Amino acid sequence: MPRRPKSRWIITIDGPAGAGKSTAARSLANDLGLRYLDTGAMYRAVTWIALRDQVDFSSDAALEAAAKALRLDMPADGRVVAAGVDVTRDIRNAEVTRNVSRVAAVSGVRRVMVERQRAFAVEGGLVAEGRDMATVVFPDADFKFYLDASPTERAKRRVQEIHERGGEASLADVEADIRRRDAYDSSREASPLRRGTDTLYVDTTHLDPRAVVQALLEKVVD
Ligand code: C5P
Repeated sequence: MPRRPKSRWIITIDGPAGAGKSTAARSLANDLGLRYLDTGAMYRAVTWIALRDQVDFSSDAALEAAAKALRLDMPADGRVVAAGVDVTRDIRNAEVTRNVSRVAAVSGVRRVMVERQRAFAVEGGLVAEGRDMATVVFPDADFKFYLDASPTERAKRRVQEIHERGGEASLADVEADIRRRDAYDSSREASPLRRGTDTLYVDTTHLDPRAVVQALLEKVVD
């Protein structure tokens, strides 16, 4: 049973890279009239600015300071604006993707981001997507999902996304990157990626995006 009225529902979607979280979270938010929060984009924005400003990546304190100082806007149209620059595309590039797990493993960076994520929820209902939404950020969410798919299927989806954006990537490289990020995100000390006990597990390996949303919608009832 949900704890809040429908317009204030907090729905969390966690899972590894390429499990179909973004598409599902966006459609679910749209179908339910809730806002969508992409927390991966927040860690990517910190990484983008830290790379741009040549922050010392070996220093947790320097990365935390970069996160604290970051002016970040995520308007409802889906854009990500960091320090006044539209970084919607750039935060998905290979360099940011390679470095984001290191930044997201810094507990001071996470503290700053979690505070901003919770502040977002104060304004109303949302569908929040990430790695630690159910376990750390919104443990009292109304509905909690964990999406997963086989590493090969997740890599195929990422390659397709990259091609659709006009980029180039080999399946082998992307799968290697996904496995590396999975291992890093699951084994870090600060808020590792894991399934909460009260979370609904959905294997999306053989589901198309519409079927994933349908599976979630079936569980989301007053
Ligand atoms: O979801 P996305 O692939 O854009 O996330 C990028 C990275 O940000 C993840 O690999 C993970 O290291 C980190 N992340 C996180 N906690 C979240 C969301 C993302 O640590 N809630």
